[in-house]
Amino acid sequence: MAYFTGFTCVGCGAPYQPSQDLLLCPVCHSLLEANYDLSALRDHLDRDAIAARPKGVWRWRELLPILDVGAIVTLGEGDTPMLRCDRLAHAVGVRELWVKSDASNPTGSLKDRSITVSATKAVEFAYRVLSCDSTGNKASSVAAYAARAGLDSVVFCPDDTPIPKVTQSLFFGAKLIRVRGHYSQINAMYRKLIHSGRVNWYDCGTDNPFRYEGKKTYAYEIAEHFGWQPPDRVVHPANGGMSIAKTWKGFREMQALGWIDRIPKMTLVQAANCDPIVRASLAGAVTVAPIEKGPTIASALAGADPGLLGARALEAVRESGGTAIGVEDSEIIEAMTLLAKEGLFIEPSGAVAIAGLRRLVASGRADADESVVCVVTGSGFKDFDAIASRVTIPDDVVDGYEQLLSAAVAIG
Ligand SMILES: *Cc1c(COP(=O)(O)O)cnc(C)c1O
Ligand SMILES: [Zn+2]
Repeated sequence: MAYFTGFTCVGCGAPYQPSQDLLLCPVCHSLLEANYDLSALRDHLDRDAIAARPKGVWRWRELLPILDVGAIVTLGEGDTPMLRCDRLAHAVGVRELWVKSDASNPTGSLKDRSITVSATKAVEFAYRVLSCDSTGNKASSVAAYAARAGLDSVVFCPDDTPIPKVTQSLFFGAKLIRVRGHYSQINAMYRKLIHSGRVNWYDCGTDNPFRYEGKKTYAYEIAEHFGWQPPDRVVHPANGGMSIAKTWKGFREMQALGWIDRIPKMTLVQAANCDPIVRASLAGAVTVAPIEKGPTIASALAGADPGLLGARALEAVRESGGTAIGVEDSEIIEAMTLLAKEGLFIEPSGAVAIAGLRRLVASGRADADESVVCVVTGSGFKDFDAIASRVTIPDDVVDGYEQLLSAAVAIG
């Protein structure tokens, strides 16, 4: 059943076996890209038969880098709602807008799509402990999937990580190490720890090439939803850029399988105060240089140094004819408010795709006639304080039916 054929290093081209436990290329320390026997899959995998399988990421298991289906660790992630939002489309200025809400994943963010794969690999490789560095969402996810697998977890987060995210991790039983500094600083220390060999934990952080593959399932779900006629554009928030790079890979695989004949314009959005990938894209660069990060309400997108992944995100944007754009905090707040008017409760980092699309249309860089999918990536409960400060809970408490009636009549 395994069509996963191993990895190729994007730096030196070295090939690796599918059974190897790898993070970066052991030779040149570049990223590894998973390969599949797509010509065999072309003959054996029927895209429409997949629709009949139980919902979720693992419907696409032939296109995921695992060897043992018995090892799968799942909480029912993926197959998140795809919602047509006409009022939002009007506010943003496009003909057809769909919101894919990854806030509906088991722990409330997109991270479950990828952590289900790394937790499965941890089981395949017989690790006892899962670990990651995180701005909060990945930590919640690692803690949940470790619990689901009966394993332990250790997570490293900035000291100012939103309370709901660390609470969730702790309640799932994770050991939390709070670290002073912003995410990219912690990321550098965490990687040094993992590559030091001083701990024998399964790294679900940024270098895990198995984990990346889970993000491709966005592409499959989107293409299937549109009857294999993908929309003009897919817009996604970017921190390291893994999601956008891997969603693009998913579309390319489907093209190679003969399932689709065009690829959407991959469009990534960052907070203007922390936009290293956007800057590199505007400069026409092929790699991303670290930046000095400013404050932003989008705490999950606080990566000032995307490292090797940044180049992959740039490639996805460039090759698909897409765009990279930054948005101000005020625009992010407006986007959250517009989403709320559609009944969607989304954290600031999760709402930036809407803000980015709005800015692209207003500046003429996206066409009003496009069909667009915006992915919203995290629940409002994940960064609750950022939203709680935007509402006022009334001081008055009515007492008895008479007061209740007059309060009701006053509303009209
Ligand atoms: C992690 C995360 C992203 C995307 O991050 P990438 O590293 O670019 O894949 C987007 N939104 C939220 C809420 C996240 O937690
Ligand atoms: Zn290499």
